[in-house]
Amino acid sequence: ENIVIAIDGYSSCGKSTLAKALAKKLNFIYIDSGAMYRAVTVYFLRHQVALTNDTEVRNALEHIDISFDAKDYNSHVLLNGEDVSEEIRQMHISEQVSPVSALKQVRTAMVKQQQKLGQLKNIVMDGRDIGTTVFPHAQIKLFMTADPKIRAERRYKELLGKGEKVSLEEVFDNLAHRDYLDTTREESPLTRAEDAIILDNTNLTEAEQLNFAVEKVTP
Ligand code: C5P
Repeated sequence: ENIVIAIDGYSSCGKSTLAKALAKKLNFIYIDSGAMYRAVTVYFLRHQVALTNDTEVRNALEHIDISFDAKDYNSHVLLNGEDVSEEIRQMHISEQVSPVSALKQVRTAMVKQQQKLGQLKNIVMDGRDIGTTVFPHAQIKLFMTADPKIRAERRYKELLGKGEKVSLEEVFDNLAHRDYLDTTREESPLTRAEDAIILDNTNLTEAEQLNFAVEKVTP
């Protein structure tokens, strides 16, 4: 039986960083489920898909193929073969992704694909509903949180480094808004699975977080 490690939590808590480090350490496959919702958002924006129009959404989803490039631990996400890894991190995508991911049709399509990926190999998958909906029977579940100000500062520095023109306030507001939409949506809202271990990394280094997680996996 394949092992699934589910890492959920709020926006910009360092889920992907930990998930990737853990996958490297354990030689598991890393899957960033958020990147999939972001890639769908890129497509929807490019094709001006009306989110309120179920038929348009369905047609769009039929034309979307999302995959990961295995090199560099699946850090590159492909939308119909095109590498959109840079674009999905831009602010205009972050601003639109939560309404897109709240759509039932979008979630059904993504969850199906995520579950398929989990059947192939041992995986670490990070997101919002991995331990609750995608893999309710995951062997290990982590739920990450951190002080919202610290999260915004971390993400702000990251975006600045990439040359994005954003203010700390904009980043803070985006995280707060996404957390609000993600926790209050109807379809599998962001919530901690009962059996998930909480990891508050406000005051933890990346190495400390990795140690914490590794200990939970191999007690
Ligand atoms: O993890 P990341 O911040 O890249 O996710 C972007 C957005 O995608 C989240 O704010 C959320 O709206 C959506 N998402 C989701 N379910 C997941 C992963 C991400 O709804 N499993």
